[in-house]
Amino acid sequence: MALRQIRVYGDDILTKQCREVKEMTPRLKELVQDMLETMYDAEGVGLAAPQVGVLRQIVVVDVGDGPIILVNPRITEQDGEQEGMEGCLSVPGKLGKVTRPNHVVVEALDEDMNPVRVEGEELLARALCHELDHLEGVVYTSKVEGELYDSEDLEEDEEESED
Ligand code: ZN
Repeated sequence: MALRQIRVYGDDILTKQCREVKEMTPRLKELVQDMLETMYDAEGVGLAAPQVGVLRQIVVVDVGDGPIILVNPRITEQDGEQEGMEGCLSVPGKLGKVTRPNHVVVEALDEDMNPVRVEGEELLARALCHELDHLEGVVYTSKVEGELYDSEDLEEDEEESED
């Protein structure tokens, strides 16, 4: 396993459509493991293949309940609404308010190309929507309502309000 370089906002690859995975190859399996390692190293809750420069429909997510690996994922159900601050490993140091469904169902394949169904609420639903957007070349900043904040400034504000 190895860490991969995370592409940052402004890199063209983040705006491109990802191709479906037709066959799981040793190379793509290695990519999945590297994506997990890179996500944990960067302390993110999700990572999509284009963020490490690969235009394939693969995402990894871990909101604290263990790793979820999704190949060719599709949202098949969504309902409710949640408003909250969102960040992205490709847009370091920034946060913005994004409205997402509060509940989603995703159908996908796992790393062995077996069908999987993942149901997520709240943070997991948000992470799934965010990562699946990356596969369509969509970065969350295009969905931010209002301004994009510096995450450091927000942390300072929180400290101040606690005084
Ligand atoms: Zn992201």
